[in-house]
Amino acid sequence: MYIKNKNDVTQHNELKIRKGPDGVHLFSRQNGLNILLDDEIPPESDWTPSPRQVSIALTNDCDLRCAHCYAPKHRSTLDKSRVKDWLLEMDSMGVFGIGFGGGEPTLHEGLVELCQFGQEETKLAISFTTHGHSLTPELISQLKSHVNFIRVSMDGTYSNYESIRKRPFKQLLSNLELLKGRIPFGINYVVNSKTIDDLPNALELCKELGADEFLILPEVPVGFGKKIDDVTLSKLKEIVDSRSSTTKSMRVSISSDYKNQFVTAIGLQKESDLQGFAHIDASGVFKLSSFDKNGVPIGGGSLTNAYRQLTNTIRVEFE
Ligand code: SF4
Repeated sequence: MYIKNKNDVTQHNELKIRKGPDGVHLFSRQNGLNILLDDEIPPESDWTPSPRQVSIALTNDCDLRCAHCYAPKHRSTLDKSRVKDWLLEMDSMGVFGIGFGGGEPTLHEGLVELCQFGQEETKLAISFTTHGHSLTPELISQLKSHVNFIRVSMDGTYSNYESIRKRPFKQLLSNLELLKGRIPFGINYVVNSKTIDDLPNALELCKELGADEFLILPEVPVGFGKKIDDVTLSKLKEIVDSRSSTTKSMRVSISSDYKNQFVTAIGLQKESDLQGFAHIDASGVFKLSSFDKNGVPIGGGSLTNAYRQLTNTIRVEFE
C-alpha cells in the first residue's frame, strides 16, 4: 500500500495511531487494517501511554458451569455509565480496541448500549467474547452495526462439547450460522487432554461456518483450570503444523503465553506485555491479564493514573 501522507490516510480511513518500540502503528477498525511504519522508531518519551487492547469483564455472572472456567466466582457487575467513561478515556489514551467479556457479557443488561456507545462515540474496535447460546436473531440485529468482531467459545465438538458445556452443540452451530455474513466472528478453543482430539474437526467445522479466526487457548491453572500437560502440548504442535490447506486459509492464533513455542507471525516484537494488553475485571480493578490476582483498583480515578501505577508496579517487580 502506498501512503502519500500519513494525515491523508488517517482522515479517509479513520485510522488510529500508536507509537511504540516497534515503530508507528496505524489501525482501522472498519477493515482490521494494520500498518507498521518501522523505518524510524519514535523515542520512548513519545510512546503511546496505554495498552493496545483492553478486555473488560462486564459481569462475573454466567449461566453455564464449564469444568475449566477461569472467571472469578464472586458476584460483580460493572455499572454501564462507568464503562462509558472508560471507553472515552481509553479512546483518547490511544487504545485500539476493547473486548467485553465476563462471565457471560450477554447477561449484562447494558451490552448492546455499550457496544453502540463505543461505535458511535469512539474510534475503538468493539468486540466481545460469549459462549454463544444467547445469540438470537434479535440480539444479532441489534448488535450488527455496533460490533466489529465476536469471539465464541467452543471446546470440543458434539458429545465432547456437550459433556463440557452441558448445552446442545447443534444449537451452537445454528447460532454461528446466524452470525455468518452479518458480524465477523472467531472461535476461542481451550485445549486440554479432553479437547485435543477434536481440534482438527473443530478447525474444519469453523472454516465451513465462515469463522475469520481460530484462537487456540492452551488450558492454564487458573480458577477451575489445570495447566496443559506435555503430551497434549506436543499433539497440539503436530496438529497446528499439519493442518489442511483449507483450514490454513483461516487465521489461526495462540494465546501469548505459548507464542514462543510455535512458529508465529508476530509483527510487534518489541512491545511489552503491558503495552500490548490489559484487563479490567468486573470489580473495576485494572490488571495485566484476567488471570492476575493483583491489580490497581480504578475507584473513582482515571484509567491513565491506574495504568501508570500498574506500569510502575510491574517495573518494580521485574527490575
Ligand atoms: S468458561 Fe465461560 S461459559 Fe463457561 S462457565 Fe466460565 S464464563 Fe461461563
